[in-house]
Amino acid sequence: MNLAREIRSFFKGDVEISTKTRNEYSRDASLFRIKPEIVVFPKDVTDVCNLVSFVAKKKREGAHISLTARSGGTDMTGGPLSDSIVVVFTRYMNHLKGFVGEYAIVEPGMYYRDFDAETKKHGLILPSYPASREICAIGGMVGNNAGGEKNLKYGKTEHYVKKITMVLGDGRPYVFKPLHKGEWEQKLQEHTVEGDIYRRMHDMIVSHHALVEKARPAVSKNSSGYNLWDIWDENREVFDLTKVIVGSQGTLGIITNITFQLVRPNPHSALVILFLDDMKKLGGVIKRMMRHKPESFESYDDNTFRIAIKYFPEFAVRLKSNFFKLAISFFPELWMMLTRGIPKLVLLAEFTAKTPKEARLMAEKAEKDMRASFGIRTKIARTNAEAEKYWLMRRESFNLLRKHTRGLRATPFIDDVVVRPEQVPEFLPKLEKIINEYDDLIYTVAGHMGDGNFHVIPLMDPKNKRMKQIIREVARRVYDLVLSYHGSISGEHNDGLIRGAYVEDMFGKDVYGLFQETKRIFDPDGIFNPGKKINVSLEQSLAKIETGS
Ligand SMILES: Cc1cc2nc3c(=O)[nH]c(=O)nc-3n(C[C@H](O)[C@H](O)[C@H](O)COP(=O)(O)OP(=O)(O)OC[C@H]3O[C@@H](n4cnc5c(N)ncnc54)[C@H](O)[C@@H]3O)c2cc1C
Repeated sequence: MNLAREIRSFFKGDVEISTKTRNEYSRDASLFRIKPEIVVFPKDVTDVCNLVSFVAKKKREGAHISLTARSGGTDMTGGPLSDSIVVVFTRYMNHLKGFVGEYAIVEPGMYYRDFDAETKKHGLILPSYPASREICAIGGMVGNNAGGEKNLKYGKTEHYVKKITMVLGDGRPYVFKPLHKGEWEQKLQEHTVEGDIYRRMHDMIVSHHALVEKARPAVSKNSSGYNLWDIWDENREVFDLTKVIVGSQGTLGIITNITFQLVRPNPHSALVILFLDDMKKLGGVIKRMMRHKPESFESYDDNTFRIAIKYFPEFAVRLKSNFFKLAISFFPELWMMLTRGIPKLVLLAEFTAKTPKEARLMAEKAEKDMRASFGIRTKIARTNAEAEKYWLMRRESFNLLRKHTRGLRATPFIDDVVVRPEQVPEFLPKLEKIINEYDDLIYTVAGHMGDGNFHVIPLMDPKNKRMKQIIREVARRVYDLVLSYHGSISGEHNDGLIRGAYVEDMFGKDVYGLFQETKRIFDPDGIFNPGKKINVSLEQSLAKIETGS
């Protein structure tokens, strides 16, 4: 019997093998393309359990087969791609199960935009949303430990996940949540699959305590590697395996349910926009602005700005705005370009408060200080619509690149580096110097200034014969630079295929060994998303790049 037919015999959801479907799920937002053999759309957790049991059995019989979970498919690293079975959650397992106080229980396939609309009815939000908030889903936010513009105040997805149901290699769903002393001690006694995982993870973390602690990244955000350093909270005596599951890119099991603790955001905001021409002032600007405690502090560069101006008709559609009204709203930017040139960097600092007056006062104080201290061009957005225009340029920068660069392709491979904010003024020119050595590379820089996290997106011609060599060289040099500052190779986008080969460089051989052990503990049979994050060969990854030839 062929594989799809065998799966259909026990599966309630859809099992598809058409070329159209396999092509559709052969891409994410990375530079890779891998065609799956089968794409399945589970109806419920029983479907997932039966599928895992089936694959486990096939593997025991020697088949080359695996399961790769996929939610929105907007990953920039190749995380949800596979040549075997891709399990898609957005078609059926996309429900909000309910609220308990400030907690929401949700299935992985729910799009963030739909989830957000529901939580806002209760005056609550999940504040770790990424710039892809309109197209990504909850499962991938957890899979990648996604972050975004509100990280500075609220941190990343890891802070809000309170419970996860995940199907393991024995085909059964397990609930992971923070366990207090008596509870985890009890788990260590159990001779079950779950007890075994708790015992081995506990032993590994306790016996390598110093090593695990040393592995903790020295920057404010990280999605690289497996988060082993937050599992064991010594002070509270809490053992929490959700910490290692969040950000594991579907390599430890398949998540079927998540409970989030949500937050009640300040209802009013005011946005200060800074136009920076002289990059030498950047260090002082960051330091001084941070004293005013903005809720968000974001940036994008002159290339992003140019693209945004060039494609403002598309903005009109995105903003659901009248084309002519929006064109008029861009006049100040066009005028600025004509009279004073395009600023090298646009910085957005958002202040929020309980009342509009309070937010406005905070913004005015920060703006006045910036003008007085640095003599830079600034403005405060007069309306929400005006603020939204600047936010959209920031959020849509990568999407615009993906869609509008004829003959060239947005090529994310150094897209998510992090250093400490005070290192940014020294780091950024060094980073740009490396990239500028390559004539073939046009690129944009946007990022989370307050976290020292930058999204550098080169544009490349996929037919360029030097493409892979440039990727090899530039990635090596950029990651060496990042690591010389004790930074992270990925603040939020994760490792996947594109960065998996550098994880050992970031954490060192011993910690990398613990990551490999973690994978063995959770997934001894290699069922879940093999060859991502760890045990990744750069050459094998590069072979999967879509060259367009
Ligand atoms: C325009 C654009 C802007 C972006 N901006 C940001 C940003 O600001 N911050 C950021 O963090 N990311 C960003 N990203 C990357 C990506 O959109 C996010 O990380 C997003 O959270 C991924 O969600 P998804 O539903 O699309 O995940 P997918 O692509 O479907 O999956 C992501 C990973 O999670 C795993 N996964 C998915 N579902 C499950 C499940 N049920 N069980 C186990 N594992 C699962 C997958 O196997 C994969 O490894 C951006 C991408 C684009 C295209």
